[in-house]
Amino acid sequence: MRYSGDIIEEVRARNDIVDVISTYVNLKKSGSGYKGLCPFHNEKSPSFSVSPSKQYYHCFGCGVGGRVYTFLMQYENYTFTEALKYLADRAGIKLPEGEMTEEEKRKASLKQRMYDMYKAAAVYYYYQLYNSPKGKDAYKYLKDRQLSDDIIKKFGLGYSNVNGGLFAYLKSKGFNDGVLMQSGLFSMDEKRGAYDKFWNRVMFPIMDINNKVIGFGGRVMSDAKPKYLNSPETLLFDKSRNLFGMNIARSSRRKNLIICEGYMDVISLHQAGFDNAVASLGTALTGMQANLLKRFTDNILVTYDSDEAGRKAAMRAIPILRDAGLSVKVINMKPYKDPDEFIKNLFASEIHPLLYF
Ligand SMILES: [Zn+2]
Repeated sequence: MRYSGDIIEEVRARNDIVDVISTYVNLKKSGSGYKGLCPFHNEKSPSFSVSPSKQYYHCFGCGVGGRVYTFLMQYENYTFTEALKYLADRAGIKLPEGEMTEEEKRKASLKQRMYDMYKAAAVYYYYQLYNSPKGKDAYKYLKDRQLSDDIIKKFGLGYSNVNGGLFAYLKSKGFNDGVLMQSGLFSMDEKRGAYDKFWNRVMFPIMDINNKVIGFGGRVMSDAKPKYLNSPETLLFDKSRNLFGMNIARSSRRKNLIICEGYMDVISLHQAGFDNAVASLGTALTGMQANLLKRFTDNILVTYDSDEAGRKAAMRAIPILRDAGLSVKVINMKPYKDPDEFIKNLFASEIHPLLYF
């Protein structure tokens, strides 16, 4: 989009860089400026500094730096226009109509097509869960896990059929090969052509904080490996900066957020009334996820599995959360395996330790 230098300067002047960066990074006053841990590289002592007088940030560790626009372009992966729109909106400035460049038009439309495609895929999987013969087994599995139809609907759970079918379905909906092959949902080989990567799995749509589907996790319904499979990173999906359940948890009225390890834990907690539960996406918790949590709360409850792997993961997560300025409590799940089991047992007995937090 092309905008005048005047409007770009006005938007910049009305968005103090310290305020903007503070929503992402835990900044502390240091001399005439502010310091914090750099969100663009891993570090233990802060070398990321923000200058209010110069309205400039700089990292002495990895060398990044720039003005408020650059920060948002680096952190949120925004184009310049997206950063400008975000900041104009933040300052209550109405932008004049701009004109998109060809490159912007192409990228915006590809992103939009991908959002549309994931949404259509989620609808397809949901339909399969209730309407295909094999989907009934998956539905039974969810019922055996004591999930209600309401919670299945709320999270949009679905089923990817044994013989696929998603590729053909999306083609029939008018999505072209270019978009489909960038989705991470399909593989291609010479014999079969394009085929579904997910089959015979319970499907968990992964949404960004704006309720848009950006990927899927799938749990296999047989003994095949891997038990859980996530769709790969794409133009829309960055695992290190999204959390499963955050789209719902962000508007929870509870004063803290609960992080757990798995999709089923999150869903089970939500069903039990803890609509503030989220999970990282099959990877260790990252600094960017901690910063995302910090945008919505100051207090975190860690409820990882009670086994050795879960304990280790919690030990790794704690310093990352603290570095983001969060206060952290760990809930011991013993003698239960994970929050799912914990909730089911303790809810039944009416002793509910989580209620005390
Ligand atoms: Zn850095």
